[in-house]
Amino acid sequence: MEINEFESFLVNLTAFFERKHPTDKIIDLWFDMVHDIPVDELLQIYNKITKENESFPRNLTAVMWALHYDIIAGDPIREKVYKNCPECSDGLMHLRKMDGDGLYMQPYVFRCATCRQRAEAFPWGNRAALIREGYESPPIMEGTENIKNIKELRKFILDKFGVSERAEGEVMGNAKMPHM
Ligand SMILES: [Zn+2]
Repeated sequence: MEINEFESFLVNLTAFFERKHPTDKIIDLWFDMVHDIPVDELLQIYNKITKENESFPRNLTAVMWALHYDIIAGDPIREKVYKNCPECSDGLMHLRKMDGDGLYMQPYVFRCATCRQRAEAFPWGNRAALIREGYESPPIMEGTENIKNIKELRKFILDKFGVSERAEGEVMGNAKMPHM
């Protein structure tokens, strides 16, 4: 993959987990470790990480390589089909809650108790009850609901923020990535 492709991937991943975008230096370090992963695996890797993790992976590059080996081992990442439910997304609810200091810390993941279609260890939750307890849906950036693959994500970011592709070896001083 190219660094701008990795950056697009990171923009979406950090937005999903409401994590601050990493510094350019960190991005460069990570990119050195994962640039051999083919770009056409990124969407599968993204889907797998966001479906199965409660928070941003502690060791992102290792997780990416593990998923890469799953893919090339012909062990296709199961694209499980979940039924539509108005309360959740694929049977899960990613919510946030303001703490006593007025800050949002880590996102909370619940299994939707309305459709009950997930088997993972997340606690069950009923959306209306959780909202009454102070949980909120994280804000979704306008336009992102139409993004279906990494190409469309790149185009979205270019259109929206004008982040240009970076030449090899150039220092990323001025290319500020958006914090979504
Ligand atoms: Zn549901």
